[in-house]
Amino acid sequence: MRILLILLLAFVNVCLRTYLLENPDFYQLHAYTAEEEAFRAMNLGEAVAALDGLDMDGLTASMIRWEYDMRDAGEDDARSAAAGEGGAADPDVFLLLQRRPAEYRKLRGVYTSIFQDLRFFPVPESIRAGTPDVTFENGWMDRRTYGGDRGHEGCDIMGENLERGSYPVVSISDGVVEKAGWLEQGGWRLGIRSPSGLYLYYAHLYGYSREWKEGDSVSAGELLGFMGDSGYSAVPGTTGNFSVHLHIGLYLRTDHYDELSINPYWILRYLEKYRLKYDF
Ligand SMILES: [Zn+2]
Repeated sequence: MRILLILLLAFVNVCLRTYLLENPDFYQLHAYTAEEEAFRAMNLGEAVAALDGLDMDGLTASMIRWEYDMRDAGEDDARSAAAGEGGAADPDVFLLLQRRPAEYRKLRGVYTSIFQDLRFFPVPESIRAGTPDVTFENGWMDRRTYGGDRGHEGCDIMGENLERGSYPVVSISDGVVEKAGWLEQGGWRLGIRSPSGLYLYYAHLYGYSREWKEGDSVSAGELLGFMGDSGYSAVPGTTGNFSVHLHIGLYLRTDHYDELSINPYWILRYLEKYRLKYDF
């Protein structure tokens, strides 16, 4: 009798999941999911950000299941997004691959291009006791007015407790320099394309570690320059229009956009456990 009941429950469970996957409004998965705001907010949440390593199948299925917002997820919920725990064995992955293979693979490809090459938090930790550390909050799409009313496409890592030029900035990933030099909004900036296609934008630098030019190769962890407060002026070298900070922007190339920003906040939280140690 008990076995029958268990079998019945398992059957109902499968039917329910199948029904949900076939209902187009439920799992919010289609060919252009990565262009939607819910996806772009990258709400991994504390539990996923704390994981050491991510499994792309596990992460994709978990994010779909949570409708792209895992901020309320607990450790157990997050575990299927961890490398080696769940992943492709996740029953939802199996069903998604059966029901929406193209859409699922496409979305997993986007998560892969975001996470595959990320290695280090961009600001190393000081080896000297007492050096004030950087801080950052989720300021995604906060209002900005310089150069027109707009939403903040990035995350600001604040280093206002030390002089401009004090905090080293290292490359989060391997990549190739696409943009270098002065930009009115970004000041001394660098734009680096990772091998898997993510565009990483580092802005308001105090100066560069070397004279970067388009086409230069960059290694993950390589010193790019130093944190500053340059920008918000057409005049190259202008500083002091805001507090010292590193602006990090992350951009995807999608079907309809050359540069579509995603929220770096939770990604930076995930990377916080991978920090280099520098003497400053
Ligand atoms: Zn910013």
